[in-house]
Amino acid sequence: MPEFEKRVCVVTGATRGIGRSVADALYAEGAQVVGMGRDETAGKALETDLPGARFSAVDVTDRDQVKRCIDDVVSRYGGIDHLVCNAGISRDALVLRLSDDDWDQLLAVNLTGAFHVIQAALRPMLRRERSSVVAVSSVIAETGNVGQAGYAASKAGVGAFCRSLAKEVASRGMRVNVVAPGYVETDMTATLSPEVRAAYLARIPLGRPADPREIANVILFLLSPRASYITGQIVGVNGGLFP
Ligand code: NAD
Repeated sequence: MPEFEKRVCVVTGATRGIGRSVADALYAEGAQVVGMGRDETAGKALETDLPGARFSAVDVTDRDQVKRCIDDVVSRYGGIDHLVCNAGISRDALVLRLSDDDWDQLLAVNLTGAFHVIQAALRPMLRRERSSVVAVSSVIAETGNVGQAGYAASKAGVGAFCRSLAKEVASRGMRVNVVAPGYVETDMTATLSPEVRAAYLARIPLGRPADPREIANVILFLLSPRASYITGQIVGVNGGLFP
């Protein structure tokens, strides 16, 4: 039997990159996939490519939109089993030049967005058996990086938040983990200059970026009962970059 047969799985930022790979992989394992994201055209493509999957246009920074979407999922499918908080943005700038607006956006999407989605989904997930959350942080939260102090702070917040949440819900049988990717080939990293890309690659022991499917593999493992004794962990998927 497929591993996620009949399990209701919500994935944020499902329109492209890592989130889309996670949606594809969950769908292939029999899940009822609900993708959230901002890009309605890409959302329609997701529904076409994965018949039966649903897309909901939601900005995770908007608490009301998030709540309406989660309530709709629960009334339509009867609950939520698994949640992947993947939606994220980067706004690279040296601290001296980082604008308030970019700082606010980083925290609003990467950290507060994850909080909104997790809080809205928490009660329905606590009512299910073997429910689990995986949030996507970054290796940068642990290593730091020039020009990414705001991004690093937002992603470190995700890790700290999820570690605490894991302790709050463990007695109810629910698990919460974090995946911290290294350098993944997606639209987010496509804008890097050839020099910056070469400098990143030179630091990765495996000598190449990750394919988004390699991140999705680990996310599915952590969501699944195969990871039944793993909770409150931040799992690096970084080609040996760290530690
Ligand atoms: P991406 O830019 O290709 O995809 C990001 C997704 O998040 C898109 O679907 C986008 O629409 C969605 N999103 C952005 N803001 C949103 C909002 N306010 N509301 C709803 N959806 C929103 O990036 P990616 O590389 O696939 O990144 C996915 C996650 O992985 C992000 O959290 C990112 O920080 C993290 N990450 C990426 C890398 C990498 O090298 N690509 C490395 C480490 C961590």
